[in-house]
Amino acid sequence: MDFREKLMVRPGHKVKLKDYDPDETFGFKKDNESEALTAKSTARLDELQYILYAENRRALLIMLQAMDCGGKDGTIRHVMSGANPQGCKVTSFKVPSSEEAAHDFLWRYHKAVPARGEIGIFNRSPYEQVLVVRVHKLLPKKEWSAAYEQINMMERFLAENDVTILKFFLHISKDEQKRRFQQRIDEPEKHWKLSPADFAERQYWDDYIAAYEAALSRCSTKYAPWFIIPANKKWFRNLAVSRIIAETLESMNLKFPKPAIDLPKKVPE
Ligand code: AMP
Ligand code: MG
Repeated sequence: MDFREKLMVRPGHKVKLKDYDPDETFGFKKDNESEALTAKSTARLDELQYILYAENRRALLIMLQAMDCGGKDGTIRHVMSGANPQGCKVTSFKVPSSEEAAHDFLWRYHKAVPARGEIGIFNRSPYEQVLVVRVHKLLPKKEWSAAYEQINMMERFLAENDVTILKFFLHISKDEQKRRFQQRIDEPEKHWKLSPADFAERQYWDDYIAAYEAALSRCSTKYAPWFIIPANKKWFRNLAVSRIIAETLESMNLKFPKPAIDLPKKVPE
């Protein structure tokens, strides 16, 4: 299956999330075959990262968004498990610091864009401006509604400057979120993950869905596509995300650079 083709939001398509089943696995099962395909994809990702780094011309930027418990952390841990830390940078975005809040909203994201040769992962992204900010009315509508086009413009600018962009929405159901919250309550090693806001945020589920639908509909472009990843099943989520990253790196036609010197046959004495 061509995961990119299947899971990409077509530019201009008006997304209704009820049309996307978070349990979908497209005929794949949790068996040796899908496990092998996931392992192959992460291994390939690591090989291609090495060439991306050596080539030192282009960057890959991956943005992750999801509801609470959607699996952003787990995806990063799994997909990048074999990657070389030297060419990889993960940035998590929280409530803006006073310094960040003193700048335009894109400032902190732009600063974290991966350099040539690097893979950068955003755990949360500029889209918070049209998600949490919109849902909780942290800014007047006039401001957050301008952000869709502003983000599109920034992404286009980055794409024109050799940054390949992939955006993943990890799609879980409200029931699945409840199950995962319950696990966090039941397992002492997961208590640290719970924050006071989590249960309160659950009350805003429908508002978040509407906000996600707007972002996915208005900001999936040829140069920075959104992918909706069915994410109730962690194994399928990991398979889909690692396939899409590997397929993308594959299509970049990465090349080792020419040697910087005329190669002698032997090392001179
Ligand atoms: P976590 O990812 O669980 O560590 O939580 C980070 C928190 O930061 C979440 O509750 C987000 O909603 C919040 N957050 C991220 N970006 C923004 C933003 N631009 N404005 C307000 N809150 C934000
Ligand atoms: Mg949280």
